[in-house]
Amino acid sequence: MTLSAEASLKPFNTFGIDARARYMARFDSRDALLAVFDESRLQALPHMILGGGSNVLFTDDYDGVILKNEVRGIACIEEDDEHYYVRAGAGENWHHFVLHCLAQGWAGLENLSLIPGNVGAGPMQNIGAYGVEIKDRFHSLRALEIATGRVKEFDAAACAFGYRESVFKGPAKGQYIILDVTFRLLKEPRLSTHYGAISSELQRMGIENPGIQDVSRAVISIRESKLPNPAVLGNAGSFFKNPIVDEERFVGLRDRFAEMPHYPTEDGKYKLAAGWLIEKAGWKGKRMGQVGMHAQQALVLVNYGNASGRELWEHSQRVLEDVQEKFGIALEREVNVIGPVEV
Ligand SMILES: Cc1cc2nc3c(=O)[nH]c(=O)nc-3n(C[C@H](O)[C@H](O)[C@H](O)COP(=O)(O)OP(=O)(O)OC[C@H]3O[C@@H](n4cnc5c(N)ncnc54)[C@H](O)[C@@H]3O)c2cc1C
Repeated sequence: MTLSAEASLKPFNTFGIDARARYMARFDSRDALLAVFDESRLQALPHMILGGGSNVLFTDDYDGVILKNEVRGIACIEEDDEHYYVRAGAGENWHHFVLHCLAQGWAGLENLSLIPGNVGAGPMQNIGAYGVEIKDRFHSLRALEIATGRVKEFDAAACAFGYRESVFKGPAKGQYIILDVTFRLLKEPRLSTHYGAISSELQRMGIENPGIQDVSRAVISIRESKLPNPAVLGNAGSFFKNPIVDEERFVGLRDRFAEMPHYPTEDGKYKLAAGWLIEKAGWKGKRMGQVGMHAQQALVLVNYGNASGRELWEHSQRVLEDVQEKFGIALEREVNVIGPVEV
């Protein structure tokens, strides 16, 4: 375990917010993590677990301990006729992990290529892209229960996965630190290319019979052309979730906005495109000082320079209130806001 005081968080969050943490403790094993909790000077302080920092917004300095997860390792721990069971340390970079699996011929994660962040945060919000969510390839995870110091295993049911949700974002928030995640990957690939522009991208690449590597390359190419690179422009991907409304609300909106994109859900509701609502409310590409919603992706909140976390949060609040006023829909933030906010 390594401990630093008054640590700058700027290199550790993709918004590039220049906040400070009272302490940052880096750990690479369960024992090293327990050693952090044993440190008497840290015990009275609040703590927060940080992976790649690609889904957090710090609105202030953090007066506590940032636990930086660096638990590594990737191994196939079991196999059956159809699957490889692959365990990855929570501190592994997600995209490197996906590329490693593809190189071994372990199929199933190709559509999730190039999502920033680490393996451990994946189950937190059931990361998803291009028609696949982590829950579709998930087997189990092991997490340290902070109150007892014991390691507990969670299967998919215990994780209670939903759209950008899990038990770790809900009832068990702040109670567990995910140490590693085991995936059930496929021996025989089942490609999912119907979603988004994957098929047309494969066509453009001149590939007729794609394999998992081709699908991954197509996804990478689409993502690179559509999403701002956090290394160039600070952002945390989609800032808001796509709202889900019941049929009555949907019909009322469709009567007013016939062109509104919508996707029926399995439980008879409708998912709407938050990016469309934000665009129609006039916020797409609108910049106010150092902050704004991206010109190509209205759902992505951007730090154009040295914006503070507070300024970014305030901008998101303006957008949220305007969408509420124009459409009667309360957008929900997907990004985890850390620190004080005032409404
Ligand atoms: C350009 C861009 C594109 C993106 N595209 C997508 C996308 O297509 N789909 C998608 O779902 N997301 C997307 N995201 C969001 C983000 O990449 C994911 O949510 C990712 O899983 C966050 O990982 P992280 O390690 O950076 O988490 P962090 O930001 O470090 O943490 C996120 C939350 O998880 C908690 N946490 C982190 N690690 C652990 C752990 N080991 N145990 C317990 N809690 C933990 C943190 O406390 C925090 O609350 C995108 C982000 C960016 C910047």
